[in-house]
Amino acid sequence: MRHLLGLLSCILLISSTVLSQAPKTSSPADIYHSIEKLNFLGTALYIAAHPDDENTRLISYLSNNVKARTGYLSLTRGDGGQNLIGTELRELLGVLRTQELLAARRVDGGEQLFTRANDFGYSKHPKETLEIWNKEAILGDVVRAIRKFKPDIIINRFDHRTPGSTHGHHTSSAMLSVEAFDLANDTNAYPEQLSATNPWQPKRLFFNTSWWFYGSEENFKKADKTNLLQMDVGVYYPMLGKSNNEIASLASSQHLCQGFGRLTTRGSENEYIELLKGDLPNDKSNIFDGIDTSWSRVKGGKEVGDILYKVENNFNFKDPTVHLPELAKAYGLIQKIPDTHWKNRKTQELVAIMTAIMGLHLEATTKTPSSTPGETVSIDLEALNRSAFKVILKSVRINEEKVSTTPITLHNNNAYKNGVNFNIPTNTSFTSPYWLLEKGDLGIYKVKDKELIGLPETPRAFTVNFTIELAGETIPISRPVRYKYARPDKGELYQPFEILPQATAKFKDKVLIFADAAPKRIPVTIKAHKDSIKGSIALTFGAGWQIDKSQQEFFIAKKDDEQTVYFTLTPPATENETFITPILKLNGQEIKKELVTIAYDHIPTQTVLLPSEAKVVRLNIEKAGENIGYIMGAGDEVPTSLAQIGYNVQLIDPASITAESLSKYDAVVMGIRAYNVVDELEFKQRFILEYVKNGGTVIVQYNTASRWRDQFEKIAPYELTISRDRVTNENSEVKIIAKNHSLVNFPNKITTDDFNGWVQERGLYFPNEWSPEFTPILEMSDQGEKSTKGSLLIAPYGKGNYIYTGLSFFRELPVGVPGAYKLFSNLLSVGKDKVVSKEKIKG
Ligand SMILES: [Zn+2]
Repeated sequence: MRHLLGLLSCILLISSTVLSQAPKTSSPADIYHSIEKLNFLGTALYIAAHPDDENTRLISYLSNNVKARTGYLSLTRGDGGQNLIGTELRELLGVLRTQELLAARRVDGGEQLFTRANDFGYSKHPKETLEIWNKEAILGDVVRAIRKFKPDIIINRFDHRTPGSTHGHHTSSAMLSVEAFDLANDTNAYPEQLSATNPWQPKRLFFNTSWWFYGSEENFKKADKTNLLQMDVGVYYPMLGKSNNEIASLASSQHLCQGFGRLTTRGSENEYIELLKGDLPNDKSNIFDGIDTSWSRVKGGKEVGDILYKVENNFNFKDPTVHLPELAKAYGLIQKIPDTHWKNRKTQELVAIMTAIMGLHLEATTKTPSSTPGETVSIDLEALNRSAFKVILKSVRINEEKVSTTPITLHNNNAYKNGVNFNIPTNTSFTSPYWLLEKGDLGIYKVKDKELIGLPETPRAFTVNFTIELAGETIPISRPVRYKYARPDKGELYQPFEILPQATAKFKDKVLIFADAAPKRIPVTIKAHKDSIKGSIALTFGAGWQIDKSQQEFFIAKKDDEQTVYFTLTPPATENETFITPILKLNGQEIKKELVTIAYDHIPTQTVLLPSEAKVVRLNIEKAGENIGYIMGAGDEVPTSLAQIGYNVQLIDPASITAESLSKYDAVVMGIRAYNVVDELEFKQRFILEYVKNGGTVIVQYNTASRWRDQFEKIAPYELTISRDRVTNENSEVKIIAKNHSLVNFPNKITTDDFNGWVQERGLYFPNEWSPEFTPILEMSDQGEKSTKGSLLIAPYGKGNYIYTGLSFFRELPVGVPGAYKLFSNLLSVGKDKVVSKEKIKG
């Protein structure tokens, strides 16, 4: 039941603002649209792998034109991608993208589902994907999603028959969908799920094809379309004042962290789906043709339909309140429907419609964004009926606790208001995404409470239950407790109300590199989440490391204030790595969490509690040169990493570049995709190459092949062709082919051991052709593929050196991979060996 409450917000959708947390308001046209959907008893589920894979045109069409309940099952939360709007990566990016999907669904009218699969990065083949994900477990999650959502039709985004032609996650999503279609109704499959849900047989399975899958529009025109259904998804909805495509592009534009803001196409547009399983509909423009989607499909539903079809056919747009007695009667009949799936679903829809008709505003808000277990929080309750229809507020409860049980008549436009002091039970769970509570595996999250699997979000800790009486029917309506406030520049705002520990602690740096035996002073920042906290902090660390203080006391007077304490950590003499964790002790409680807040305008603010830790690495690393200039591209943390091993790193403003201005640097490094995103480089490239000619070192990290070729005559001083070659297995074998080159000898001797412990991938967008001036240093390949020598290329130019590398230093350095540091140090030191040896001779 509590899972269903979250769905309520999706129902009256079109009028909702993109500001996700604001109370919804509905026009009579919106209400009519919702009644049409109430009277359609059919369900569709769209299945793919990532946030942004979904075809919002089709989801919006199914939801708004067909009026079906429509879900998008994204197998992953998109943790493995990149972030164009902020610094969140990995699991935090997954939290952001989860919210972007929910924002998209609020626009297109769909609902959002997930599995536990983790987006571990690019995968070339579904075989690899399914091994890493744990196929049995993720297949089980797809089966569970089908059993719970009960779709009549399923549509796959990707083709299950063409492994290797796209991302392995994509093909896997389709393969799992095909298998799950046959398993969901089999009581022998995943029987442990059947205590909470029942078997279900979807009727049809489709693949959402297009001309693209046929190679060309020409081929597609000629193709046999016997098994294809065709729908015009370019329809205009006069009732909503929008076309389907306008809704769809607004929905997909919610994927802001992926840069998906896009133009809208208008006018007629066809969408094709190919039948994979089930019977072919007679009407090939109607995906539900032959499936009963009327109220008669449900036992006890015919009587409900008799009432509700009449309301739909005679809808009074001037005064929809005239329908309330009939709607209340339908509500009573729906409560008698034995099929709980339909009963719960349609109850939620109908209650949303009735509250919209009355303009019934129910809310429970706090004046603070968070509190801690055991504290008392004041909650403001408001119930306002904005119609002449008689409504009685019978009772109000916060969770199970009674607030008011005296019936009160809600007179037209006169609010019931009540301020309540609510004691937060000491055993209340902290607010955090449920799938991140425990450290997961590379391919799958750990979720202890199986009932949560598939949900987009953790259910809110506190809901207020208003029970109203309307035309003789008693109707419970729930609202989550939210934080309400105003900002002078933004107006009224709502955000989730959170339960936090009394304090959290975090390290400034997630990885600390000790390039020699010198101790480092490590700041740890403690943040108070209530007034007047007093306790101690200690660090845990591994054998061989030493710390100056076993623990320190702290006191913080005010909630939200911070205090930074310092520990001095001395590394062991030899190479070593370990994790350090701050442990806060407060009133006998131990807290090892850090708090991360994710705040953007297009999503509700998210708080994430993560295990607080930092990786500390003792390296024996040599380097030559001091001053590094860094030209930031799409955004990476390489400058911070280089500063950690003692380089003086300066970020260079591209506008300021001259041949002269670069001459002070021992090396200049281009951030990832710099030539793709920094337009000014078009005019500055000649200075960069001149700097090399005069004796400098330039290191260019990966760029994608698509954009720079038009803009830049030359990314390199010699011919260099960037391809889509990549090596995605981070453990794949690496051969050093230029064994005597200084890049693998000075100042650090690089061996194949230095390629151990890499994460996510070896590298991407390697060049596949280059002029003879370049020396390839390494050779590598993914299993069963042609090997590539393009991952690290160096060419002398004038008195200097030009290096191009697609190796994923931007992933390896921030997580403290020792070999990546040594190799990058060698890249920065190239050409300095002669200078150093001279000094050595002198000394
Ligand atoms: Zn994808």
